[in-house]
Amino acid sequence: MRIADVQDKIDHELVSRAQIEEKIGQIAARVSEDYRGRDPLFVAVLKGAVNTMASFSQAVSIPVQMDFMSLSSYGSGTESSGRIIIRQDLSCDVRGRHILIVEDIVDSGRTLAWLVNELKRRGAASVEIFALLEKPARREVDVDVKYHGFDIPDEFVVGFGLDYDERFRNLDSIAVLKPEVYQGAHA
Ligand code: 5GP
Ligand code: MG
Ligand code: MG
Repeated sequence: MRIADVQDKIDHELVSRAQIEEKIGQIAARVSEDYRGRDPLFVAVLKGAVNTMASFSQAVSIPVQMDFMSLSSYGSGTESSGRIIIRQDLSCDVRGRHILIVEDIVDSGRTLAWLVNELKRRGAASVEIFALLEKPARREVDVDVKYHGFDIPDEFVVGFGLDYDERFRNLDSIAVLKPEVYQGAHA
């Protein structure tokens, strides 16, 4: 789905599909060099990172393994509390593995900080992070994002895997919704 298909609901586009693909290609080239011969395991958190994982894993030029985890943050609201529940665990044993976490967006950083810690606790040989988007203004926890895509302003974004109320994940670029889309949901 493209911006034009939901034009009435989109306020503005932040990152185009071409920009996403170009950035993913550049980072994939670096990662391919850094991980050559190390049999890396790419780990993504469902569901938001699925599109990033799909594009990124195809753009690297080395064989990789992929695994997925579903997490939920304790409590409700839009802030993640940092108390994490595993809804669906990885299927791989991470002991001794070189892991690259593939993330859609880093907001407070709490989810990612928890995940890095958890993978190290399970015996991973190394854990690094690729995040397509970051909101620097919202960072609360210090996490070292080695492979970094785009910094974006403190606005709620959808598309390329990111949802609002489970919608707009299949938009092929990153965009900000019109305010009335949110207001409509609570009317
Ligand atoms: P953190 O633990 O860094 O606060 O939360 C990160 C998670 O919150 C992301 O993986 C994503 O699921 C969600 N999130 C943070 N900012 C946004 C946003 O602007 N749009 C959407 N759709 N999800 C977001
Ligand atoms: Mg995520
Ligand atoms: Mg979401």
